[in-house]
Amino acid sequence: MALSLYVDGPRWRQHLQRTLAASPGVVPVVKGNGYGFTVASLARRAQWLGVDTIAVGTYREIADVEKRFSGSILVLEPWRPFLDAPTNNRIIHTVGRHQDLIALAALKERPRVVLEALTSMRRHGFAADALAQTSRSVGTVRVEGHAMHLPVGGGHLAEVERWMAAAPARRWFVSHLIQSELDGLSERHRDVDFRPRLGTGLWLGERGALAARATVTDCHVVRRGDRVGYRQRRISRDGHVLVVSGGTAHGIGLEAPAASNRQRFISLARGGLDATGRALSPYEIAGKQRWFVEPPHMQVSLIFLPVSVAPPTIGDEVEVQVRFTTTTFDAIHIS
Ligand SMILES: *Cc1c(COP(=O)(O)O)cnc(C)c1O
Repeated sequence: MALSLYVDGPRWRQHLQRTLAASPGVVPVVKGNGYGFTVASLARRAQWLGVDTIAVGTYREIADVEKRFSGSILVLEPWRPFLDAPTNNRIIHTVGRHQDLIALAALKERPRVVLEALTSMRRHGFAADALAQTSRSVGTVRVEGHAMHLPVGGGHLAEVERWMAAAPARRWFVSHLIQSELDGLSERHRDVDFRPRLGTGLWLGERGALAARATVTDCHVVRRGDRVGYRQRRISRDGHVLVVSGGTAHGIGLEAPAASNRQRFISLARGGLDATGRALSPYEIAGKQRWFVEPPHMQVSLIFLPVSVAPPTIGDEVEVQVRFTTTTFDAIHIS
């Protein structure tokens, strides 16, 4: 009984290699749920890709990657005194406050750091004048470059240029720039080494190579008016109730990511629920997303199938439209 991720290996690996070829400075981001793949398996994949640096989200994630990947590990969460952060030759800290830089400079290891710019994201980092000043006066740390994290969707070139002029550095770690923007920047600033941090576009960029599937573990004939489930809701039409793998523990939510624009519209218009309190599920049977009978359980979900649709066989797998960044799979099959 599993929610599984199936990966068309040749197609996925080709996409990874193509992405790297287009942007050789890419720093793969390996964090959180590992974009559905797990942090550990992405660390091994980064080793296979041959990159010199990966980025993890937090200090806690270092343990999952350090034995699987042999290069440098950039930590995206900013260094703070209360984090009890380890330091060694492979770890690159992100620093965004003067007092943190002073504390790191006091360590005997000469920590490696990147100095983060407080961009329009407003997450963390130095303001422009502070970054310029700090980069001129760092103590015994090793500054690997400056970093900026940008909103998604492109269109932030003017901000990039502003930062680069205000606080020049020979290397900039950047995010969420589209390839043509990166190419243009490299053209205009030939002396600058751009290191794009890339997660979604790398691991999930070839969407057609990825499929999520759930197992049908049971199937029951139901008649209009029957009560089912934890909440004993009445079934409004004759049909089948399917029990499928995948529940809240996997990140299966009430609001299904819609497969088509039309479905997205319907789902949005209803705020995930229709007038009778039903929610469209991410489970697809006979080419259509089906309704939940009730909110997903911890590890399984109950789905309604109208009589007009032949139910799948117990043991069959059905497609699930998931958001990979919020899904935990029981099994990952890479061909
Ligand atoms: C998560 C993250 C990224 C990668 O973002 P994607 O949208 O997955 O490519 C890059 N930089 C920072 C600072 C991040 O937190």
